[in-house]
Amino acid sequence: MTVTVRAAAKINLHLGVGRVREDGFHPLDTVYQAIGIHDDLTLAPADDLTLTTRVADHIDPAGVPDGPDNIVLRAARLLAAHAGRPANGAFEVRKDIPVAGGMAGGSADAAAALVACDRLWDLRTSDDDLLRLAAELGSDIPFSLVGGTARGVGRGELVTPVDDPGAWWWVAVPATEGLSTPAVYRHFDELRPDAPEVPASAEPLLAALATGEPLRLARALHNDLQEPAIDLRPELGDLIALGEAEGALRGMVSGSGPTVVFLCDSAEGARETAAGLAGSGRDVVLTATGPVAGAHVVVGA
Ligand code: ATP
Repeated sequence: MTVTVRAAAKINLHLGVGRVREDGFHPLDTVYQAIGIHDDLTLAPADDLTLTTRVADHIDPAGVPDGPDNIVLRAARLLAAHAGRPANGAFEVRKDIPVAGGMAGGSADAAAALVACDRLWDLRTSDDDLLRLAAELGSDIPFSLVGGTARGVGRGELVTPVDDPGAWWWVAVPATEGLSTPAVYRHFDELRPDAPEVPASAEPLLAALATGEPLRLARALHNDLQEPAIDLRPELGDLIALGEAEGALRGMVSGSGPTVVFLCDSAEGARETAAGLAGSGRDVVLTATGPVAGAHVVVGA
């Protein structure tokens, strides 16, 4: 008896970041979208708690911790403690989501682990409890459970699904070397000591999203972490310009980067942009649609 759970990468269509709070977190007003780049996590019964990770060709396995720090094992231990039972099982994770790429790959794995353990251990944890445990593990993890398109406030963990009539086409270009999310936030603090306490509102983005028109959405995309990410990695600015020259409606840094995502007007537009970027020497160019589902069982016990 095994369980396989699939979880998606996220991008932020809007990422408004306010001035750092006393607890060290930044207040956010964000709109997440889950897109079709996935990690698959399989859990089989075992006496111990073990993890093996296999990665796609474009991922450096050295970036993924194989010990107790892996967020999959942290998620399993947290849910087991909540349920008052031992944490055990053999996890196998197959990663397609870039590591330290601003696409919440670790968060996707954590959400998948919560869903898989809940199913295999037959806990029937309430949605509220799962969301609360997810938020304890990391700010993006509640969204990784919910998926689709959703607004996140607080530090991003308070998630409300939003209507999204579109079927949006994205091209994603991961970087060979990841970028640390805390380092990008620290650089935001340096560049924007005058950042407002209340982050830039997601309302304009939501209005554009509701039209279902790619050009309207392209104009409304907003990411306050783009400037610090490009300041740390100037080549990201060149990549954005290149993808836009290859036909994308708009390119932007995904979350804290360094993955760059491009919104395209259609499947054909995405194929052309991806081909243009690949022809310009980009090793890894991924094409995906959004929104897609959050962490869900694909092979169930
Ligand atoms: P976010 O967009 O949520 O800021 P990210 O996509 O930039 O995250 P992740 O891939 O989630 O970054 O990984 C961030 C760090 O978490 C990694 O550098 C790694 O050290 C650690 N980590 C722990 N568990 C995992 C996991 N299962 N997969 C990837 N990274 C993990």
